[in-house]
Amino acid sequence: MAWKMKRDAVLRLRDAIEAGEPISLNDAAELYGSADDVTLSELATLARNKLHPASEATYVVMAIVNYTNICVAKCDYCAFYRLPHQEGGYLLDFDQVCAKIDDLVRHGGTLVGFNGGFHPKLKLSDYAELFGRIHARYGSDLSFYEMTVAEFMFSCKLSKMSYEEGASLLKQAGTKWVTGGGAEILDDRFRKRHSPGKYTVADYYRAQRAILDAGLGSTATMVIGFDETLEERFSHLESLRKFQEETDRRLTSFLCWTYKPWNTELGGREISNQEYLRWLAVSRIYLHNIRHIRTSVLTKNEAALEGLKFGANDFDIPTEDEVTQKAGATISLEFERILSAARRSGYEPKLRRPFEPGGR
Ligand code: SF4
Repeated sequence: MAWKMKRDAVLRLRDAIEAGEPISLNDAAELYGSADDVTLSELATLARNKLHPASEATYVVMAIVNYTNICVAKCDYCAFYRLPHQEGGYLLDFDQVCAKIDDLVRHGGTLVGFNGGFHPKLKLSDYAELFGRIHARYGSDLSFYEMTVAEFMFSCKLSKMSYEEGASLLKQAGTKWVTGGGAEILDDRFRKRHSPGKYTVADYYRAQRAILDAGLGSTATMVIGFDETLEERFSHLESLRKFQEETDRRLTSFLCWTYKPWNTELGGREISNQEYLRWLAVSRIYLHNIRHIRTSVLTKNEAALEGLKFGANDFDIPTEDEVTQKAGATISLEFERILSAARRSGYEPKLRRPFEPGGR
């Protein structure tokens, strides 16, 4: 493909990035459609280096504990869920959850993410009780991402609670984070096509605002590579940047995964690494108000570390996640191989503590 962005347009955007000014959605679309890879990498690196040390990348070792695969949302891109009473459905008990956490600790991990489905019997008080027991057992040695915004929304509705009441209940149980998982593509056209029962975009942001206003931390996520149009992708970035500005820039990070098509009703093919890297670069440049951009080892393995040259400054090394593994992701416990890939991209990886809520 011949990229043909005009030199004066590139220089104008370079000046805007240098000055820390937001670029327009049209400019972001032009960058994505017309700039060559070298230009995208240079501009994204310029934006990145305004916020982070130039040759350093940070990482954390983490596990995603899939406490249940029972879900009634029926997203067509999901290979993980089982309907209630369908064979293969499970709900882990406290000891089984702890065994998974202990396994992460054995690998030197410090961050546990909980991710399950829309379980039709799990009220928010059940989650609060589980998290309270987990805090009592592990103290402050570990950090926990407890629920995603999407799970939180469903459980609030099931519990007949407002989002404000739900966030307050979790806060009382000691929860620090409800992450922005389950966002995939935040565009109602996409949502109607693939997961009409999950949420509307406005409702998603309402829930996330209540979470932030309760003093909990949250993050931004995205998944690309389904059948979404570029317009739908850009509408996700546009609403996200606006929301981040309206909420005093309290979302700590943005993480973009890629869709894994195996064993899903939707099917399809994986997008190329080049497409992922180009999207990461445009996200870094456009989302000037989100401090950390994270590249996805979970879905791209070592190839994700090339993302450090396209604006990312941080990554996870995951030890477990059934959701993506069911759809074709492979998880490697050869940490050194992943760290070497970061070094090959020109960045010295530095193990960090999990972020603090609202931390910049
Ligand atoms: S993506 Fe999440 S909400 Fe959708 S079906 Fe899978 S587990 Fe359920």
